[in-house]
Amino acid sequence: MGDEAIREQVAACSRIMTMKALIGLYGHLSAYDPQTGRIYLTPGAGSDRANVRAEDIWVLSKTGEVLEGSGRIAAEWPIHTAIHSTRADALAVAHVHAPFTTVFAIAEREFRPVTLTGAVLLGDGVPLFNELGLVVAPEQGQRLAAAIGSHRALLMRGHGGVIAGGSLEEVLHAALALEDNCLKAWQAAALGPVRWFSDEECQAVNQSKRPPSFGGVAWEYYSRVESSWDRQPTTTDNPLG
Ligand SMILES: [Zn+2]
Repeated sequence: MGDEAIREQVAACSRIMTMKALIGLYGHLSAYDPQTGRIYLTPGAGSDRANVRAEDIWVLSKTGEVLEGSGRIAAEWPIHTAIHSTRADALAVAHVHAPFTTVFAIAEREFRPVTLTGAVLLGDGVPLFNELGLVVAPEQGQRLAAAIGSHRALLMRGHGGVIAGGSLEEVLHAALALEDNCLKAWQAAALGPVRWFSDEECQAVNQSKRPPSFGGVAWEYYSRVESSWDRQPTTTDNPLG
């Protein structure tokens, strides 16, 4: 994929995540091109997330050197440089302050999946990064990268979450699944004990047959929805996301 195509995809993912209230005032995402070593990162806080375009995307080196971009950089860029530097499989990374993901990062409760999609995408566990404060220094990013390890997602205490994957499609799907599972777990807990998926159940679900389009279906669907979205922040529900 060339420079322009990556920029387009990163911008599209930003718009979809804004529409779905995964990001808003805060939150950002990136894609890494292993051919060039360039990290493509969405703009920082205060930018218009609902209207991000290819030309708005920043380009960083893996050591955090700004190669292209203007305005306000995403303050927590070390999250992206650290994970892209330490995980060859993580070609896409998102940092979200999504409401229910953040609630789960506040509650004293280990994350377990509660839906089939959650079991597939998050069944190997979602660790908690207990360190407080914004991740604005490379050494903080390294500690966060160590905490997420090979997992697809990480909760950040009193803050939000990080999702890493092999593509932006995968990261979008997993970010939606994380937010959905956190919301549904909370809702189900109001009714009584929650039927969390065990490790064995997650493995069983992962071995069962699923459609080949599983990874891309959320991207295709929400790309269509986003193309006709009214782009008003009031149609999302993420006050500080
Ligand atoms: Zn943050």
